[in-house]
Amino acid sequence: MSTENKNWEYADAVEGTGHIKLKEKYGLYINGEWVAPRSKTYFSSTNPHDEAHLAEVAQANKQDVDAAVIAAERAYHDVWSKITPAERGKYIFRIARLMQEQAKELAVIESLDSGKPIREARDIDIPLACNHLFYYAGWADKLDYAFPNQKKEPLGVAGQIIPWNFPLLMAAWKIAPALATGNTVVLKPAETTSLTALKLAEIIDEAGLPPGVVNIVTGFGDTGAAIVAHPKVSKVAFTGSTAVGKLIQKTIAGTDKKATLELGGKSANIIFDDAPLDQAVEGIINGIFFNQGHVCCAGSRLFVQENIADKVIRKLKHRMQSLQIGNPLDKNTDIGAINSSEQLKTINKYIDIGRKEGSECFQVDCALPNKGYYCKPTLFINVAQSSVLAQEEIFGPVLTIQTFRTIDEVIQKANNSPYGLAAGVWTDKGSKIFNLTSKLKAGVVWANTYNKFDPASPFGGYKESGFGREGGLHGLGAYLK
Ligand code: NAP
Ligand code: MG
Repeated sequence: MSTENKNWEYADAVEGTGHIKLKEKYGLYINGEWVAPRSKTYFSSTNPHDEAHLAEVAQANKQDVDAAVIAAERAYHDVWSKITPAERGKYIFRIARLMQEQAKELAVIESLDSGKPIREARDIDIPLACNHLFYYAGWADKLDYAFPNQKKEPLGVAGQIIPWNFPLLMAAWKIAPALATGNTVVLKPAETTSLTALKLAEIIDEAGLPPGVVNIVTGFGDTGAAIVAHPKVSKVAFTGSTAVGKLIQKTIAGTDKKATLELGGKSANIIFDDAPLDQAVEGIINGIFFNQGHVCCAGSRLFVQENIADKVIRKLKHRMQSLQIGNPLDKNTDIGAINSSEQLKTINKYIDIGRKEGSECFQVDCALPNKGYYCKPTLFINVAQSSVLAQEEIFGPVLTIQTFRTIDEVIQKANNSPYGLAAGVWTDKGSKIFNLTSKLKAGVVWANTYNKFDPASPFGGYKESGFGREGGLHGLGAYLK
């Protein structure tokens, strides 16, 4: 069995960019208009593949955030809380359909701005984002059925802050349930991936949503902090790191703001000796290398039953050698660019720590592009439970492997983490699956699959992975009192 990467060489199949329309400079989308930031400052959004400049993006300061929140509050009182729920639903359907029409452009921009493979943006991010809007559009006029015998009311202005790993998808996860339940929105995308949120603002404009119902303000952490601290924001919906989640909790302590926090993870992917191994290997690959490991619920801790460990590791290394790494816009690419130079530094820091800790390190033998932010898919084998690598979130394509003998041992090891976002279980036995799903402290447990999402199923964490659920009925409840 050869592990030479060249056995899997493909001809280039780079997606065109002729059809995308990006402005040179984006203002803030406040009260249905594009306005220049009061800060008078713009920053550059770049392509992590080649460090090329894509567009100038406005940096919102406290005054800009204040204008956006005031517009959202006015829209809530004057329009959005007065129209019928069915009308609200129609607007959300319209946004979803326009997104579908522009799916190809959105996918290319997402790939350019974030570094994720075009195939993922095209087949996962954008369709799932549309599905979330369709799903919640359908609930808008059925809230009495969702919550029978309860008189539910919207909260008011929702301040929503999202990360860079699934930019448009996270925007849809946040905006769809907020609008369906009658709230208005001020949303801030991450500084490195603002462009699809700004395209979404154009779509929202085209859909004729009343001014101020959705406002999109771009900027850095202080822009997010200003949203959280604003007295007229009644609900904070945050997806991002546990560290920032803790800061947010401090800010809102003692106020009557509601919050949902979707934070970090260090999820266990557990392979039993009766599992279909080739399928499991695909699941391991998908669990950790999907989106360069920039996935909060990435299956970053692999637990393999001891008697099959050698076989699984051999199959895994072989499969890793076939991964195509490089230009995210190439339709053959499996692993694109790391989102930013800072994130690449963080990942490399952890790889150094792993080497120093003495675990066996395996990296795919391939050449990386000589520009841009790239990282080889990496395995650490025989990692100790106490190792930094097994405990801390890396948020990159780095997998730790540990072995176990019994179910009780693996439950104890899998739960020995400050996080509890997701887990995967691979076995032939339904009884084992049910035994584990009830004992693993994780918000989502996948059985014989990994990283599967559906708008109808709730998502969220235990422990330091946050609280509150997004998706499904739970996701509606988080925007109602
Ligand atoms: P991050 O640094 O926490 O940033 C997330 C968002 O918060 C960004 O828009 C960021 O703006 C903003 N922000 C930064 N400081 C803030 C503050 N003091 N107050 C309010 N907002 C602030 O996280 P990240 O590095 O972008 O994303 C990676 C993390 O997100 C990982 O830990 C990952 O596990 C987690 N994540 C969790 C989920 C989930 O559903 N549980 C999903 C995706 C990601 P800037 O971009 O300008 O800094
Ligand atoms: Mg970018």
